[in-house]
Formats: sequence, C-alpha cells, structure tokens
Amino acid sequence: MAERTVKLAVIPGDGIGPEVVAEGLKVLSAAAPAHDLALETTEYELGAKRWHATGETLPDSVEEELRGHEAILLGAVGDPTVPSGVLERGLLLRLRFSFAHYVNLRPVRLYPGVATPLAGTVPEDIDMLVVREGTEGPYAGMGGVMRKGTPGEIATQDSVNTRFGVERVVRYAFAKAAQRPRKKLTLVHKDNVLTFAGELWQRVVREVGAEYPQVAVDYLHVDAATMFFVTQPGRFDVVVTDNLFGDILTDLGAAVAGGIGLAASGNINPENAFPSMFEPVHGSAPDIAGRGVADPTATILSSALLLDHLGLPDAAGRIERAVAEDLQARAKDGGERSTPRIGDDIARRVAEQG
Ligand code: ATP
Ligand code: MG
Repeated sequence: MAERTVKLAVIPGDGIGPEVVAEGLKVLSAAAPAHDLALETTEYELGAKRWHATGETLPDSVEEELRGHEAILLGAVGDPTVPSGVLERGLLLRLRFSFAHYVNLRPVRLYPGVATPLAGTVPEDIDMLVVREGTEGPYAGMGGVMRKGTPGEIATQDSVNTRFGVERVVRYAFAKAAQRPRKKLTLVHKDNVLTFAGELWQRVVREVGAEYPQVAVDYLHVDAATMFFVTQPGRFDVVVTDNLFGDILTDLGAAVAGGIGLAASGNINPENAFPSMFEPVHGSAPDIAGRGVADPTATILSSALLLDHLGLPDAAGRIERAVAEDLQARAKDGGERSTPRIGDDIARRVAEQG
C-alpha cells in the first residue's frame, strides 16, 4: 500500500505540450514505487483547442477543481491561431494570480556533458537558482491607453511593487540560499533608473538579510547581470529579481545551460495554500509539434521540482540523477532519440537506481 497519494492535475495543453507531459508522467510513475507514492492524476483540456471550441480560457468550475489538487503539471499552451495574450492573461496569468504563485522558480544548471555555447570561454560550473517574482512588477496589468489611435496616443504599463509582495519573495529566496552550500544571494534590479521600486527591493533585501547573517548578499543592475550570465555565470548562486527581469534573464540562463529543451520551472505558492504549477520554460513549439522530436527533459526536470516542492526530495533527487545520467549518455553517443524514447530511457534509469 502506498504511503502517500499525490493528487495531481495535468494540463497537457497545445503543440508539443501533450507529447512532453506524457513523458513527465511516465518518469513520475517510474519514481513512485520506490518512494511509496501513488499518483492520482486528472487531466484538464485547456488551451487553444478549448478556446476555439468554446471561447473559454479558464472556466470558474475548472479553476475550482484545480484548487482541489496538490500540484499541477502543465505542458504548454499557445498557438499562432489564438490572438497573443488571450491564453497568457486568460489562463496562465490568471492561475498565477488566483493561486498566488508569487515565486517563479527557475534553476539554471549546466549538467556534465551538456554542450553550452560558452564552451571554452569560461569555467563551466553553472548552478544557480533564479527566484523570479511572479505576481507583480509590469505583469500586474496596471496602466492603460489614452487618446487611442491618435498621433498623441500614450500607453502606460505600470510596474507594481508592494512591500508585501517584495518581502515574501525575498524571504523565499533567502531561505533557499541558506540551504545551499554556497549561501549567496544576488539581487538583480535597476535601482539607478527605477528608483522607487529599486529602493524598495534594496531595503527589503537589507532588512530580511539581517536575519540571515550566513548568506552573502550581492547586488547587480540587470544589464550587468545579463553580461555576467555569459561572462561569469559561476558567480551566481541564488538570484532574486523582479518579474520581467527574471523572465528575460532565465531565457538567457536556459540558453547558456544547454538550451530550452532542458529548462524547468515552478510557479510556486510556498505556503501550499493553493496548488503550485510546474512546467517547462519553453512554449508549445508549434513548428515541431506532432513529430515526436521535442525534448521532454525540461518537463521531466519540472516533475522533479514538483516532487521536491511537495516535500519529497528523495524522489525528486532520483529523477534528477537519472536525467544527469541520461545527459551524460547523450554526450557520448550523440544519437537523436524520439520524445518517447528519451522518456523511456530516463524512466528506466529512475527504476534501476538503488
Ligand atoms: P511561447 O510564446 O509559448 O514562449 P515561443 O514561440 O516563444 O512560445 P517555444 O515554443 O518555446 O517559443 O519555441 C521556441 C523554439 O524552440 C522553437 O523553434 C521550438 O521548436 C524550440 N523548442 C521549444 N521547446 C522545445 C523542446 N522541448 N524540444 C526541442 N525544441 C524545442
Ligand atoms: Mg517564448
């Protein structure tokens, strides 16, 4: 009898979403027995297909059902046939706001054997954790348009930074930094130009940092941080930053750590008042959908983040080790494998571990 049942909502979504999610679930199922876990999954059809059929992005009833789960695994939503912003604001951002996903966690780790475009230019010890604020900043949806359609048109997009919102994400980042061997936290902002928000972030980091004397604190302007992600990626441990800066920095992070096929993320409500949602950083990749060539590794690593968040670090570690082994094997044989084949290989490695 399984000791713990995990109630998981699954949103396969559009494009390659269903293909990569199937492999994530395959690997989760392979990890479950060794940790006395039973997975109870419920699939929800959300995304472009549902929007075309019904005009719905996230019906209230579905939101209510999702709320009853411990976590959500999402593939990707989006399609060129859906106007930009409809699914982003109507589904993804709505879930983030409704479920208070105020931490967007994005590890940037270069696994042994994985090719980086930085090869030979810097020491390739890249292992950082980007803690991106998830519900505020320019994503808050504040602002508006004046004199629309006239030559004097003005569009404003306000960046909202509340003491409450900044403090809770900064606290999460310090707690993570304190658990890691290097115990370093870098605040990334642009406080020389964005003076009001920047000063708030600086002050909160100073105040919360006083409770964590063991954590070394560093500050970088976002432009300098972008440069150092490429020239000195090894200097970063935990990075805490604003919603938009984090979005951009982590795409760069994904690129330096082996590409978007490997980049995992979690939209996290640390208090578990609501289910957290885990998804690959990449999108629905309509250009390669249906061909069985998408790399499911980002989704598999997102499943490991999911287990870790649910307080199952041993099961998460098992998956991460299996992925690391698989990536080293890839480096040796270099052969192209289909999406399900990569999932099979990683699931086998998960099952074989002692
Ligand atoms: P979104 O707006 O949803 O972020 P996008 O069009 O910006 O979508 P992606 O869907 O992430 O970006 O695709 C960007 C490129 O990366 C595409 O060429 C796609 O084929 C490729 N790509 C994305 N994910 C994968 C994957 N898992 N495996 C292989 N290639 C991928
Ligand atoms: Mg994109």
